[in-house]
Amino acid sequence: MNFRIGFGFDVHQLAENYDFWLGGIKIPHTKGAVGHSDADVAMHAITDAIYGAIAEGDIGTWFPPDNPKWKNAKSKIFLDHASKLVTEKGYMISNIDCTIICEEPKIQPHAQKMIQYLSEVLLINEERISVKATTNEKLGYIGRKEGIAAQAIATVLKND
Ligand code: ZN
Repeated sequence: MNFRIGFGFDVHQLAENYDFWLGGIKIPHTKGAVGHSDADVAMHAITDAIYGAIAEGDIGTWFPPDNPKWKNAKSKIFLDHASKLVTEKGYMISNIDCTIICEEPKIQPHAQKMIQYLSEVLLINEERISVKATTNEKLGYIGRKEGIAAQAIATVLKND
């Protein structure tokens, strides 16, 4: 059994008058995440974790932020691509674990919806996906609600 782990990390600035996309879900909030794409930190961290597990670079490798083609891109495009690469290389995703770090809004009420969405995009069972959240204890840029971060790991496996 060939078993591999990847790790992903992402940060985006939070500002008023932006949509707040998180884990593929649009969350009602006074602020949203700022970025070249839809700025979905959870999707980006998970996508980079998957690329990492199969040693295929990161989102920036495949979707350069200086290319206007990817402006306001839906993060589903990135996750779809990473997922297809996994299959092409003969692996399957075993599990995903993502931690979102922000002071507000509360993530937990939206977590199950995110898991459901991710499960549909990745074509894996919901029980293989974990989305959880923590605050930054009011410290630093996350504590001041200037930004949001996410970390994720992905494990993939294949029979060799
Ligand atoms: Zn990002």
